[in-house]
Amino acid sequence: MIRIAVQKSGRLYEESMQLLRDCGIMVRNGKNQLKAVSDNFPLEVYFLRDDDIPQYVEDKVAHLGIVGENVLYEKNKAVKIVEPLGFGKCRLSIAIPKNEFYDDVLFLQGKKIATSYPALTKKFLKENNIEAEIHEISGSVELAPGIGLAHAVCDLVSSGSTLLMNGLEEVQTIMNSQAVLISAALDQEQQILLDQLLFRIRAVRKAKKNKYILLNAPNHALEAIKKLLPGMKSPTVLPLADEGWSSVHSVLNEDEFWEKIEALKNAGAQGILVVPIEKMIV
Ligand code: ATP
Ligand code: ZN
Repeated sequence: MIRIAVQKSGRLYEESMQLLRDCGIMVRNGKNQLKAVSDNFPLEVYFLRDDDIPQYVEDKVAHLGIVGENVLYEKNKAVKIVEPLGFGKCRLSIAIPKNEFYDDVLFLQGKKIATSYPALTKKFLKENNIEAEIHEISGSVELAPGIGLAHAVCDLVSSGSTLLMNGLEEVQTIMNSQAVLISAALDQEQQILLDQLLFRIRAVRKAKKNKYILLNAPNHALEAIKKLLPGMKSPTVLPLADEGWSSVHSVLNEDEFWEKIEALKNAGAQGILVVPIEKMIV
């Protein structure tokens, strides 16, 4: 049995549970439950505040955890990052009132900065030789300048709309963050279970980054099309019932997706179908 800590509710909860589901791991959890056991994988899930997860993993109360890098580096506990998970993306940034002018970090000299991330903020200020006062608050940091509590904030941002609504402007990114899978030191049985879980997580994430593509092409265009579609090994080419035509199947990465589709059309591809992939094992 291996125990994993996930956020009880909040921004990481849904996607953490979805990841387990995508890995075929069923967990039935009622509201306000502290823990739940999977029906079909030797996994127990603990539901905690995200701030507590690094400590629980360091103490081996949970062997694994899913937490934002922002929280992980703020808490600085003795745990290992096993895998980035690609969700919960945000950045920790300095923001100041819109009507003020910021040309560089010297702006912060002698100022008061409100944040829920005192350790990361201190580290940033130290690296930049800035002396400033840190005012630690646990929530709604963006309100601090408006009520005269601070000159600036150091807070999490994704779209920036919360800052904007509070008359603030993001002026400096301190770190980029995403959710990561963390681990304590494991015994042999737990390591085997982590490896099984990781194998599934990688297959799921790889599948999400790729699409299955099917298209028809006249045989004279096949050479050019094959060059555009490397596939997992090489593309599958099947003859169509119509003489002189073939069907080509392959896998495309999302990063090059639209570019490749354009090129395929220009090379003579027709009837292009793009289908999501559920799992991808290479
Ligand atoms: P808890 O009750 O568990 O302490 P919380 O209020 O500290 O919850 P949430 O706001 O749910 O935390 O955010 C959890 C994590 O989601 C953050 O630590 C961060 O890693 C990530 N995240 C992604 N985008 C954002 C964002 N725009 N603002 C805040 N956090 C974000
Ligand atoms: Zn929190």
